[in-house]
Amino acid sequence: MPDLWLPGAERHPLGDTAPTDTRYAPRVIWHITWDKNATRAKPADLVPFDQLVRYFTGSGSSVAPHLLWDPFSGRTAQFYPADSRSKSVVDAPGGTRTNRTGRVCLQVETLFFPYCRVGGRTFATVRDTPAKGLDKILAWARSWGVPDDWPMGTPTWSADRDEHTWETRGGHYGHGQTPENQHTDPGPMPKWSGASPVPKPPPFPGRSAFGPGKSNASVLLLGQQLVRRGFGKHYRVGPSRDWGEADRLNTRDFQLAQHWSGSDADGYPGPQTWARLFG
Ligand SMILES: [Zn+2]
Repeated sequence: MPDLWLPGAERHPLGDTAPTDTRYAPRVIWHITWDKNATRAKPADLVPFDQLVRYFTGSGSSVAPHLLWDPFSGRTAQFYPADSRSKSVVDAPGGTRTNRTGRVCLQVETLFFPYCRVGGRTFATVRDTPAKGLDKILAWARSWGVPDDWPMGTPTWSADRDEHTWETRGGHYGHGQTPENQHTDPGPMPKWSGASPVPKPPPFPGRSAFGPGKSNASVLLLGQQLVRRGFGKHYRVGPSRDWGEADRLNTRDFQLAQHWSGSDADGYPGPQTWARLFG
């Protein structure tokens, strides 16, 4: 199992853990702490990291994330282990369980507000910061199967929400892209490599390429794409050319996440599965 706690993070376990809905693809939800309303004309000093740690372990524990991240110093503090839900998004009764969707549903509060002042400089977006330590957070998320992509696009200050995408795609989301929520954070984020568009899908090789005893490049391609999309949890060592039960179980998880059932979710890829997986 990957690390439950981000290596190097200061640990402040709140207890009060609860499982996530692991049939959905793994994801990260990004926030900014938005502590003050500053403007270009009236910037304000960044709030001290330890003040936020006190908040999330005290009066703010009901909205605590997994991680608090300071993009200026690279300091991180963690309040929940990776396999628990955290509490930073609104979850209305019924409907999508926003804090729980995914094998992991990691939430990161970035210590930031627009026009915060650090070391005499003013920063309008998280993208403008040095983003220190971001590589470690991304590596940790990848170890939990979170793909590098932003399924609803890289965040802006506008709030776009698409419940179907949310439920079916793993990757990175902004608070502003989360169903049932009104906030518009985190705004523009630093670019990372996986934010590039997905290449053209390969043609479906036919149903006969898959199943017990089959060994070919399409089985490997299927497995690699399942991992990329966050549906690799049944692999012990990773995908290979040889069809195995892990291929079937991972494919089935992906099919179930499309809300398919019966023979449409038997774990054997057909043209629809292929199109969705690579689409
Ligand atoms: Zn937020």
